Amino acid sequence: MSALSTNQKQIAIVGGGPGGLTLALILQKYGIQTTIYEREMHDKSRERGGSLDIHEETGQKVLKEAGVYEKFQELARYEGEDFRLFDKAGRIYLDEETDSHEKGTRPEIDRGALCELLLDEMDAENIKYGYKLERCVSLENGMTELHFENGVVETVDLLIGADGAFSHVRPLLTDIDIEYSGLTMLELNVLSVEVNHPDLAEFNKRGKMFALADHKGLIGQLNGDGRIKVYACLMVERNWIETCGIPFHQAKEAKEQLLALFSDWDDQLKNYIRYAGDVIIPRRIYTLPVGFKWNRHKGVTLIGDAAHVMSPFAGEGVNMAMFDAMELALAIVRNSLHIEKAIEEYEDIMYEYSSEKAQESENSLKLCFSKDAAINLAEMMNSFQENRDL
Ligand SMILES: Cc1cc2nc3c(=O)[nH]c(=O)nc-3n(C[C@H](O)[C@H](O)[C@H](O)COP(=O)(O)OP(=O)(O)OC[C@H]3O[C@@H](n4cnc5c(N)ncnc54)[C@H](O)[C@@H]3O)c2cc1C
Repeated sequence: MSALSTNQKQIAIVGGGPGGLTLALILQKYGIQTTIYEREMHDKSRERGGSLDIHEETGQKVLKEAGVYEKFQELARYEGEDFRLFDKAGRIYLDEETDSHEKGTRPEIDRGALCELLLDEMDAENIKYGYKLERCVSLENGMTELHFENGVVETVDLLIGADGAFSHVRPLLTDIDIEYSGLTMLELNVLSVEVNHPDLAEFNKRGKMFALADHKGLIGQLNGDGRIKVYACLMVERNWIETCGIPFHQAKEAKEQLLALFSDWDDQLKNYIRYAGDVIIPRRIYTLPVGFKWNRHKGVTLIGDAAHVMSPFAGEGVNMAMFDAMELALAIVRNSLHIEKAIEEYEDIMYEYSSEKAQESENSLKLCFSKDAAINLAEMMNSFQENRDL
């Protein structure tokens, strides 16, 4: 038995998303036991859907450290990197197709498949479902008391908030809260697109389609289960979902009203809304300020969206969540469970790399919803490619 496997420290991870699962798995690999407390009654990652691009220098590196890279490669969709960019008139600006002989650096995987991959490797008894954290209290002896909605109270030496944008751990560390970014995304799904709507399947191709204009956007993203996940994006007031008058639970009427908002857009682009099924999920996009830091606190820290939620327009969120998990896990191991030292090392390095990515994500959001977004984004991507080729 290694020294670390005899650890008596109670380590709680709140949240069983990609960040929390990765952290628990890497620590498990080093013989350090943790408990994940997840508010849902079972793993809901499949229902939360969405395809995620896993970056070579961050997400993939972490999957190697966690020992699941080979399995990831079996599931990864390298062709999912294909990217098409249009304006509202259907004019095409970019049509990037992945070379079938050369693997790219940012393959796609569905969120559900990624979480299952991590879960399959974990000791199941270390995840407690149906544990929604309501509040936590710092005790004088440096430990933290966790109060769950189901009435259970636990006391731990180390608490890691991996509970996403609306973290219930973050208030223990700071008064700063998430801010609405100005962007609202309406999520729709076109199921079995190849069978049900071959015209749209052909138009979208194997990866992502972005149509951007007039501070609005239509995004299509082919997922591994054959659906196209669609996001209709609008820069609107924070309370627009409540005040717009669109009955999101009556899909037929809601889609009519959505189509009216895109009335001067190309017909093929409007098919992303027309062909979508009956579930429409409105999502406000929130962010923490770029460069956000909290007050260092004995025995408590944050990873992933809880630490630095950013706009999804640089595709960094999940990569950062997993990278944080790896950095924190390795700091705990390096410091032989000396928690204060581990937190210090992790937070210092995390602030640095995550603020850089948060800035990129903020810039990307502004660019994607600028007046002539398609032109601007094409120019940016072309110059990025030229610099890479130099
Ligand atoms: C529309 C959209 C599209 C996106 N697209 C991309 C993309 O293409 N690429 C990318 O990299 N990122 C993308 N992201 C961001 C990405 O999904 C997140 O950055 C990532 O999931 C963060 O992982 P996490 O583990 O930190 O948090 P989460 O995935 O939010 O997981 C948090 C977990 O904590 C649980 N939880 C929450 N509150 C509590 C509580 N009180 N008690 C117990 N458990 C709790 C939740 O149920 C959940 O399981 C997108 C986000 C959105 C909204």
